[in-house]
Amino acid sequence: MSPPQFDDQLVYLLSNLRHIQQHVPSVAEPKGHQKKHLNLLDGIALLLVTGDKGDVAAVSFVHTSTSIEFFYAKNRPCTPQETAYIQKLLEMTRSFKTSESGMWVGRVLKLVIQTCVKKVRGRMRKITNELKKIGFSSSLRLEDLNNLHIWRETNCKGEIVEAYRRTFPSQKPEEGVSDRDILFRYFRGLFEVSGPEGRIEGAKAAVFLSRYIGIALRTDPIIDNAAIVRRIQKLGDYAGAVQTLVKMLLDPAIYGFRHAIKFTEVKPAGQSIHLMPKNFLKVLNDYAIRRGKPQVQWKDLCHSFPSLNSRVEPGDGDMKVTTSTHCECTIATYLLNSTAGRPTAFEIGVSKRCCWLCKKYLSVLVEPDDSSILAPSSSFIVSGYQGKIHSGWHPPHWPPRAFSRMVGLVEGEIEEILGSLTRTNRSDSFPRSPISEDSDIEVGGIENSWF
Ligand SMILES: [Zn+2]
Repeated sequence: MSPPQFDDQLVYLLSNLRHIQQHVPSVAEPKGHQKKHLNLLDGIALLLVTGDKGDVAAVSFVHTSTSIEFFYAKNRPCTPQETAYIQKLLEMTRSFKTSESGMWVGRVLKLVIQTCVKKVRGRMRKITNELKKIGFSSSLRLEDLNNLHIWRETNCKGEIVEAYRRTFPSQKPEEGVSDRDILFRYFRGLFEVSGPEGRIEGAKAAVFLSRYIGIALRTDPIIDNAAIVRRIQKLGDYAGAVQTLVKMLLDPAIYGFRHAIKFTEVKPAGQSIHLMPKNFLKVLNDYAIRRGKPQVQWKDLCHSFPSLNSRVEPGDGDMKVTTSTHCECTIATYLLNSTAGRPTAFEIGVSKRCCWLCKKYLSVLVEPDDSSILAPSSSFIVSGYQGKIHSGWHPPHWPPRAFSRMVGLVEGEIEEILGSLTRTNRSDSFPRSPISEDSDIEVGGIENSWF
């Protein structure tokens, strides 16, 4: 029997029909050490995203009695510039001194912002865009800010002033300054530094202030606009990630052998470019023909997938789709292949929530089988999932059992769709559920002890 083939066109078809699956799985809130580890790993993953859209990273670690080795991967191999940046981060980590932790955070954050500047500026622009929607502009006066409908009645006062103090401990805000005064300056400052001419130092201050304002808004939502609050917190995540690294380094158990910390890239399988028919119905009918099943028409497809109703049937011709192994799958198979013993939990930090097929893959990997070296209740732990199906998703080739399971799983989805389309009563339809398109992972709070 020939080995199973993974049909990339079927995933492309699925991504067109069910861009988002109905059920977005939620994850149980991790606790204790697991939560701390995931906060740290998610934070490091964020620091490794140097490009804008489409750049993602996954990170895990193996902690032995003599070293801590972090493993990271992207969907593509790291560029020489990225490798040099990560090397520099590692050197800074190894040369960390307890007495200089405050300055260390500033230095590392500067390097991070310089390197990840596209994404940082992207996050700043998202805040300023939200601000524009509520009528804030850089020419607005404080009196006009008071008239905007973003304020919530709250008994807490001085939270934001306190955030300002924590950000700039050497500068005292003048007497009588209010939370709104500080927010006004912060909003205006963001307009100034979010443009291409904005200075790195300005961006650094904005990121720090966002971190503390974001924490204040978590406990006391002074601003009655969830979108703005969330955007502020996400910009602050850069400072949160670096502060989480410091928390790890300050743990005496880690500090003692910070020189033995390693960062190792796990190279992903190569990406490849495929030509896929623009009319994805052709992929479905080619599959139906191979399986001796009746073919379907565009109108049948629209009946089952109401979201297609607004689209005309795509014409002839091909489009390029880049397939790749997603970074969390690369890390997961690496851990499985290299970890001796029977661990029960593998924590993987991600910069974006895992997609629908990665979620399936991570659960397939730990399915018990005869040759399994895993504990019966083993699992991969990530902070979050999303329901998206990406057109270029491709599984790792090792282990072969998981590879075949994914071949079967994708075909099973297509069979289910074909079955519902050709059933006589045609009553089935696959609704789309509205979920957020924003799938960035948020970096959690600061914890005390580490391992
Ligand atoms: Zn994925």
